[in-house]
Amino acid sequence: MPLLDSIGRTINYLRLSVTDRCNLRCSYCMPEDGIKKSAHGDILSYEELYRIARTAVSIGIDKIRITGGEPLVRKGIIGFLQQLAEIPGLEQLVLTTNGVLLEKMAADLRAAGVQRLNISLDSLKPETFRQISRCGDLARVMAGIEAAQECGFPIKLNMVVMRGVNDHEILDFAALASTSATTVRFIEYMPAIREHNWQRHVVPGTEILSRLSRQFTLIPLEQAAAAGPARNFRIPGVPGTLGVITPVSHHFCSECNRIRVTASGMAKGCLFDGSQSDLKPALRGGSDLHLAQALGAIVDSKPVRHQMTPEECHHQAFSMASIGG
Ligand code: SAM
Ligand code: SF4
Repeated sequence: MPLLDSIGRTINYLRLSVTDRCNLRCSYCMPEDGIKKSAHGDILSYEELYRIARTAVSIGIDKIRITGGEPLVRKGIIGFLQQLAEIPGLEQLVLTTNGVLLEKMAADLRAAGVQRLNISLDSLKPETFRQISRCGDLARVMAGIEAAQECGFPIKLNMVVMRGVNDHEILDFAALASTSATTVRFIEYMPAIREHNWQRHVVPGTEILSRLSRQFTLIPLEQAAAAGPARNFRIPGVPGTLGVITPVSHHFCSECNRIRVTASGMAKGCLFDGSQSDLKPALRGGSDLHLAQALGAIVDSKPVRHQMTPEECHHQAFSMASIGG
C-alpha cells in the first residue's frame, strides 16, 4: 500500500542524515565558523538510524538517501550502509557526498550496496572551488569522481548556481555531459541561511536553460513517475544528460515525495517549514509501533507547499548541513 500524505501525494523517499559534521564549509550552506554541533548524546547511533530506516520501509518508504553534513566523515559508515542495503523492501539506497573522501571510499561504497551517488561540485576551477567551499581541494574531488566512475557508479553532479560566483561555468559543466555518461544538474541557490540580499545569488532555472540552449540543443526527457524535482534534458548525440532544479523560481511541492530525518533524530516534512518532530523519545523508550506512528504523523502534517518565493522567504535561518539538504 503506498504511503499517502493528507493531500494524496505518495511519500516513498526518506533523506536520512547521519551527521551534521562536514569537512567543507560551503558558503551557501553554513557560516564560515561552521554550525553549532549537536551534543554528542543527541546524535543518533547507527542502531537508532537503522531502526528508523527499517520502520520507514515498513510503512511504505522504498528509497533512502544517506546525507549529512558529509556522510563519509562518520566512522563506520560502510558497515551501516551494508546493513541498510539488506533491508527487505528497500529498493534504492543512494548517497549524497561532496566527494572529498570518495577516492579511497568509492569501492567500499559500491561493495556495501550503494546504488548511486550524487556528488556536489560547484566549480571546475580550483580557486573558485576553494572560494565556495572555503577550504576544499578540487583535485581530491575530481580524483573521487574518477574512482567512483571506475567502480561502476553512474555519476550525477549537482552544481548550485550562484550569480557572479560560478554561473559563468554553466556551459563548462554542461560540456561534461558531452564527453561522458554524466548527469549534470543545475540547482537554484536556496536562501537557507538567509544571507543579506540573498536574491542576488539566484539564477532562475529559465535563465540557466536559456543560456544552455544557446550552445546545446536540449530535448526534454519524459518525467518518470517519482523521478524527483529535476526537469531533465538530453543533447542529441551525447552520452550524458542535463537537469535543472528550481526550488525558488518554480516550486515542485505538488510532486514532493519525501520526508527528512536529521542526524539528531528530528523528522521534517518540509525543508522550509519550521515544524519538526523529535523521534528520540520513540527511539529511546518506545516500541517500533511508536516510531512508525511518529513517522506517519510527519507524513500527515507535510505542508501543501513551502512559502519561499524569488522575492521573499519566511523561514528561520538554518544550515542545510544540519538537515541534509
Ligand atoms: N555534504 C554533502 C554534499 O555536499 O553533497 C551532503 C549534504 S549537503 C547539505 C546536500 C546538498 O545540499 C548538496 O548538494 C548541497 O549543494 C546542497 N545545498 C546546500 N545548501 C544549499 C543552498 N543554499 N542552495 C542549494 N543547495 C544547497
Ligand atoms: Fe558540507 Fe555539503 Fe554543506 Fe558543503 S554543502 S558545507 S559539503 S554539508
